[in-house]
Amino acid sequence: MKSIPLSRIRSPNVMRISDAMPEMGDDEMLPAIDAETNAQNRDLAIAHWLLGPERTSIDPEANAAYWQTLAASWNITEAEARRRLCANCEYYDNTPGSLEAMEAVPLDAYDMDGGGRGYCTRFDFICHSLRSCQAWEEKEFEED
Ligand code: SF4
Repeated sequence: MKSIPLSRIRSPNVMRISDAMPEMGDDEMLPAIDAETNAQNRDLAIAHWLLGPERTSIDPEANAAYWQTLAASWNITEAEARRRLCANCEYYDNTPGSLEAMEAVPLDAYDMDGGGRGYCTRFDFICHSLRSCQAWEEKEFEED
């Protein structure tokens, strides 16, 4: 599977909320707010990191070709791949503050499917809870 460096995914002109709010710490994960850059970064993730499926479903038989391809790239079973969702990815940020910030980006066709919005801090775009990509990493569950 061909992948491209993160430096090619990240757009140098991406605008972050932190650009407009310099008092906030650099370590805080904040969404990009530029709709064009969001679409560009999403397209790159689709093309090079198997972001998908385009039309999501909770049906365990749906989008078989997509999930089988992703599973093969990880060398795991299709069933295991189907459990690796943006929703439980280390890079998925759907905190209330980030959801509010993403409201600056108008809804588009990808928002009309795929579950809820979350900001992908790996590739700087708005992803969705029911999709996945090859860069998925397991989010650690913290117990009190
Ligand atoms: S949140 Fe994770 S799985 Fe979703 S697009 Fe970003 S890196 Fe990929």
